[in-house]
Amino acid sequence: MKTVGVIGGMSWESTVSYYKGLNKGINSALGGHNSAKVVINSVNFAEIEQMQREGEWDKTATILCEAAQSLEKAGADFVLIGTNTMHKVASQVEEAIAIPLLHIADATGAELKRQGITKVGLLGTAFTMEQDFYKQRLTERYGVEVIIPNGVQRRLVHDVIYQELCKGVIHRRSKNDYQTIVDELAMNGAQGVILGCTEIGLLLEPSDSNVPLFDTVSIHVAAAVKEALNES
Ligand code: GLU
Repeated sequence: MKTVGVIGGMSWESTVSYYKGLNKGINSALGGHNSAKVVINSVNFAEIEQMQREGEWDKTATILCEAAQSLEKAGADFVLIGTNTMHKVASQVEEAIAIPLLHIADATGAELKRQGITKVGLLGTAFTMEQDFYKQRLTERYGVEVIIPNGVQRRLVHDVIYQELCKGVIHRRSKNDYQTIVDELAMNGAQGVILGCTEIGLLLEPSDSNVPLFDTVSIHVAAAVKEALNES
């Protein structure tokens, strides 16, 4: 079995989901006492969050590159970045290490393609929804049209992520707001909605929506389990 390296802590609430998911995935494939071989480098999210707000993406890249290199030294065979937003610096991280990076948008794009989705809604941080690094990859590599909520809704989705979900706070009101936004994306033609932030799965479950929800943690973890078992 390959060893999975996880750059975590962004936020640690979702790193818990990664750790659980990897172990559950390996155990359901192999049974018995089998569990995942994992090394995690969990960063201080306060530093990253401040750099994001100030647009200091190169500084975040330095932190993530060092984390990735430490995972490689610790024996990881491949690396996951456990956040959608920080894939903005994925190419720098890839260049800093000799082992592969399993990109979250590739895992997601492959799953959308597998399910025949050609138009999808995207929820995530403002960076992920509004900038090109994520949407463009889905469109160019997987032929999926990506639509996003309107400006007011994007602000709400972003604020709930940073002020609530990254702190482990779950509010019924926010869940209702997210459901309304998912419904509107579906009315605008989305055949499904990407939960493109690794904490949104803590708020929304598949049964909360009439269209399929693509939880990027579950998809990323499933791809990592396959890779660890040499099945990808
Ligand atoms: N975990 C979130 C994501 O998947 C947001 C936190 C961050 O900015 O990294 O985008």
